[in-house]
Order: sequence, then structure tokens, then C-alpha cells
Amino acid sequence: MTTQVEAGATLRQLQAGLGLDPLENRILLCHALALPRVALITQSERALTADEAARLASLVQRRLDGEPIAYIVGEREFFGLPFRVAPGVLIPRPDTELIVELALERLPQGGRLLDMGTGSGAIAVACAHTRRDAVVTALDLSDEALAIARANAAANGASVRFLRSDWFAAVGEERFELIASNPPYIAAGDAHLAQGDLRFEPVGALTDHADGLSALRSIIAGAPGHLVSGGWLLLEHGYDQAHAVRDLLQARGFSDVQSWRDLPGIERVSGGRLP
Ligand code: GLN
Repeated sequence: MTTQVEAGATLRQLQAGLGLDPLENRILLCHALALPRVALITQSERALTADEAARLASLVQRRLDGEPIAYIVGEREFFGLPFRVAPGVLIPRPDTELIVELALERLPQGGRLLDMGTGSGAIAVACAHTRRDAVVTALDLSDEALAIARANAAANGASVRFLRSDWFAAVGEERFELIASNPPYIAAGDAHLAQGDLRFEPVGALTDHADGLSALRSIIAGAPGHLVSGGWLLLEHGYDQAHAVRDLLQARGFSDVQSWRDLPGIERVSGGRLP
């Protein structure tokens, strides 16, 4: 049964039955009323004013219309850190924490890390926040993404240098100990693009408008010119692309080529080292 969002309804009544997932229900309630989560317990008999009811009703309707919860509240947690998100950047996924962990394990002390297609800044900011010794650069083609990523670095106290660049175009002759990327890898016409949160996310961050491998190919082709000897290239990719990405890495001369599984058990990241 759905509760009417109207003046006089209490937080207790509103915590169930808005027709939403219970966690999302609580997130929207707290966001609409600017309340901390604990208030849902300590102020459970607090009743909505007419203004609050109107605000909450509009947020609930947006969610029921399919808009991602992260865009509605403007934030998503990634690697234990808060990230500001807006429709100009992909919403950070838990799957992407895998590439952060792999990068942190492989980056030497004081190492230089490059995050290509940083979007919200998730990979670069999580690495720079965890490893104060790292020298982190993040690039993106989108000015809107760079503005959001800069804000996320600042808000999380992470030191990251940002570059506007079409893949390696603006990187010059620089070399890095590690390059990481979560590029657009969904093939044009893939049914997932028309489902769930993806419908609202920037299409250029999701698909290469081709076979799904073209951004991965560009990065693999350019990486040997921007890695030190022994440096790692780590790439996030789609659930069915691990084999193709390993083949591309091997063909470009990378050694130690391998793939790693995410928590659901899908080969999600592949990488190799420059000999
Ligand atoms: N992991 C995202 C998804 O499948 C896609 C991200 C990307 O294309 N880089 O929902």
C-alpha cells in the first residue's frame, strides 16, 4: 500500500510505502527534509509541513519516473568517499572499486598514476586520497566532467592534476608508473543502454558508438608510449570483453597479461605490464 505524501504524514509513516525500495525511500526522505539518517528514528513522529510534502512528492515522482537516485540527491559513495554526481558524469559503480584496489597494490611509492576518462574523478580521487605519496593525473574530454572531478578532489582533500584531453592527445611525452581507465565500453545498440540508470547517464561515457572496444583499443595502442618500463596498464571492461582485451594487450607487447574478477565474479578488469 502506498502512503500519500501530504502535510501531517509522519516520518514513521513515510519510511515505508512510498512505492520505492526501502533504502532509497530513506535516502529521499532525508534529502528532502535535510535530515541526518538518525532523525528517522529519533524524530519518527515528526510530521511533514506542506512545503516539505511538496518537495518530497516531487523527488519521489522523479525516482518513480526512473531517474537515478544518485542524480536526484547529487551524490554517490565510492570507495568510502562521497562523490558529487550530475547527469554529465557516469555514476560511480561498486564494480569500479576493483580497479582502484588493483592500482593501489601496484603503484610504487611516489609513483605517477594516470586516470583516463576520469568522469566524476572516482578512480583518481580514491587513489590520491588513499595514497598521499602518489602523483595523480586525471584526464577527460568533457569540461563538465572535469569541473565535477575537481570539486570531488577538493571535497575529499585529494591532490590530483586535471587535464582536458582526448585520450593521450594532451599528455605530451610524460610517462607513468600506472595507467588506469574505465572508458566507454558498451557496444552501440546494446539493450542495457535503454535500461535502468543508464538511460539517464551521459551516452559518451557509456558507449563508443561502435563495437565497445574502440576506446579500449586507443588506450592500449597509446599506453606503451606513456608507461615506464615495468609500468602497469589496468582497464575496466564489459562482462564479455576480458578475452578480447587480453588479446589486444598481448598483441601490443604487454607482459603479465591477466584479468581480475569483481565481487559478483565477473572478469571486470584486465591489464598487463610494459616490458
Ligand atoms: N559499468 C557500466 C555499466 O555497465 C558501464 C561503464 C562504462 O561503459 N565504462 O553499467
